Amino acid sequence: MSSFRGDPNFCPECGNVLPLPAMQDTVNCPRCSFSIPVIDFAGQKITSTVVFNPIEQSSITIEDEEDSELKGAVIDRRCSRCNKEGMVYHTRQMRSADEGQTVFFTCIHCRYQEKEDS
Ligand SMILES: [Zn+2]
Ligand SMILES: [Zn+2]
Repeated sequence: MSSFRGDPNFCPECGNVLPLPAMQDTVNCPRCSFSIPVIDFAGQKITSTVVFNPIEQSSITIEDEEDSELKGAVIDRRCSRCNKEGMVYHTRQMRSADEGQTVFFTCIHCRYQEKEDS
């Protein structure tokens, strides 16, 4: 069905070529008796467009998981709380685009978290 969408010359039910609406208010398919008002017919193209914006939402969901701070590359940065080396490096995109990216360091020993704005 979707392959016929967007082309007003084809029946969305059977794919048959539809006659162009001349004087009448409805378009009738000669093959499957599908009929649609000309006004709805024109509106179909608009309603079929769905806007997705899943990137921001999915990244927030992952970061809400408890152990996500300890997943990432461990670097030899010294923790300022327990003074041991070994912190997980990960970045987080702030919700507002102009805030830029923030780098987080999480201590693998005491889970102390530091952040650094890039
Ligand atoms: Zn048809
Ligand atoms: Zn620490």
